[in-house]
Amino acid sequence: MFNKERNVTHIYNFSAGPAVLPKEVLAQAAAEMLDWHGSGMSVMEMSHRGPEFISIYKAAERDLRELLAIPDNYKILFMQGGGLSQNALVPLNLVGHKPQPATIDFIHTGSWSGKSIKEAAKYANVNIAASSMTSVPPQSTWQLTPGAAYLHMCTNETIDGVEFDVDAGVPAVQPDVLLVADMSSHILSRRIDVSKYGVIFAGAQKNIGPAGLTIVIVRDDLLGKALPTCPSAFDFKLVADNDSMYNTPPTYGIYIAGLVFQWLKKNGGVAAMEERNIAKAKLLYAALDADDFYQTRVDAGSRSRMNIPFYLKDESRNDEFLAGAKARGLLQLKGHKSVGGMRASIYNAMPIEGVQALVDYLNEFAGRR
Ligand SMILES: *Cc1c(COP(=O)(O)O)cnc(C)c1O
Repeated sequence: MFNKERNVTHIYNFSAGPAVLPKEVLAQAAAEMLDWHGSGMSVMEMSHRGPEFISIYKAAERDLRELLAIPDNYKILFMQGGGLSQNALVPLNLVGHKPQPATIDFIHTGSWSGKSIKEAAKYANVNIAASSMTSVPPQSTWQLTPGAAYLHMCTNETIDGVEFDVDAGVPAVQPDVLLVADMSSHILSRRIDVSKYGVIFAGAQKNIGPAGLTIVIVRDDLLGKALPTCPSAFDFKLVADNDSMYNTPPTYGIYIAGLVFQWLKKNGGVAAMEERNIAKAKLLYAALDADDFYQTRVDAGSRSRMNIPFYLKDESRNDEFLAGAKARGLLQLKGHKSVGGMRASIYNAMPIEGVQALVDYLNEFAGRR
């Protein structure tokens, strides 16, 4: 029991990442830890080129392709290095198809796109086509560079809580604008049209699996254009040509991701997740909006369904709020150090019961009846 005094039997983990995973997945991984399917080996001990691991890898690849309806002309790469490494690897792999120095356009909507801009400036000219930390700037205001190598956006800003409405409006840019999206913190949380993008990347530790695994979805005509300085192990074409086994891939991370993909399929796939995520976010924002006890800073139309930063009007009570939350089994609600306040990350694996428990606490702490 987490807290005997309060009779807390359930803990809910609101961490932004590494983050909550489905209990069923963790239980299955535990059951298979010492002996995977009668092989006599842990997945961690298997050769990445052996038939056992190849079957795990192929199933994960196939299930992810099915879940996101990824077209045949896209490769799925299982890489290492996290989301941040892609800030360098995407330019290294993509700017080579333009005369040098190339220009990359960015939509700057928060900390993560900000880091992408800084890193890309090592490899290309960068142009901030639009910027706002509290909303997605309307597309009519984007100042795109003619002939740019690509347009980068972080479709869900994990720290700032700004999310692009990727279903409805975005990205409806001209067909000749190549889109790159950092979807680290909302991939698989909602439906997306993969065919609108040149490259989608995501670190696994937010909504997929353990840290260390990085998923890259890349249109195949973009392969083979890496700058000569691109490290071989991170050249998208070499990785793709070798089924993500040019070097040893993060095998255990791929295995857990595969279990998460199976869990998603069993639970209705991405469309069903999206419905649940909309309901969860609605519930939480309603409690935050009920009066001015709590405050949010993101415009209503750009609010993230996954990462919800909020502030107490009286910030002197922050520690009291967090201690009370912890005593009730509501963990890791402290906001990112760069923005302060609180943040609730409610990824796919956070059940609505967890959001309800947080809402109950928000109401209690605010003295609402
Ligand atoms: C967490 C995160 C990253 C960084 O991931 P690392 O694995 O730490 O490199 C990049 N982009 C977004 C949107 C993130 O949420």
